[in-house]
Amino acid sequence: MELRRKKYSIVSHIKNIFYPEICPYCKKVVRLGDFACKKCAEKFPAEPYIRRAIGGYLSVSAAPYEDNYAGAILSFKFHNMTQYKTQLAIPVAKAVWREYAHIDFDFVTCVPLHKKNLADRGYNQSELIAKEMAIMLSIPYTDALKKTRFNQPQHSIKGVSKRASNVKGVYKPTDPKLIKDKTILLIDDIITTGNTLGECANILQKYGAKEVFCATFATVVSKTT
Ligand SMILES: [Zn+2]
Repeated sequence: MELRRKKYSIVSHIKNIFYPEICPYCKKVVRLGDFACKKCAEKFPAEPYIRRAIGGYLSVSAAPYEDNYAGAILSFKFHNMTQYKTQLAIPVAKAVWREYAHIDFDFVTCVPLHKKNLADRGYNQSELIAKEMAIMLSIPYTDALKKTRFNQPQHSIKGVSKRASNVKGVYKPTDPKLIKDKTILLIDDIITTGNTLGECANILQKYGAKEVFCATFATVVSKTT
């Protein structure tokens, strides 16, 4: 697996003069293609990345879900800051490149949104990150899953078992043939309980995926460990 820096067109460079890229963590102007300003890049969590076992699947995250990292991913997710997509994808791509160096992925996919959420938000934040990573890692991107049932947001539900049952049966493959015997990299933005990511990985496995590995930008880190 190779990790390449994204190439920018002349149009992107010109656009950047008028709408310069900013650091997702402190909002300072940065050079096109830099994932953060120098100060925030130095402070960014270095290896080892945060590893979690999500329902029997290995997952790696680039940052803890706290402080400026939570601020950046939440602005990206809820406040239209899609301009962060490459900057947020860079540390996730690096984490994947390091942690899964020996894995030969057939494709990258992401946790899908229900069409109602997609219509409200206008984009799927996890898909934007996954597609950017696919370019950097030279792995094809495939829409492998769809969300067929609308459910309540996980963060609005109290109770471990209620959260687990809230995601059951809401995801389906777009086409089972795409999944069978494939080694898949599954991307999401944030892991909280891991129920959503685990359920999506289960569906891929159920439809015959050879192996499923997960990666996210951020994860909740337990303070007790
Ligand atoms: Zn900064």
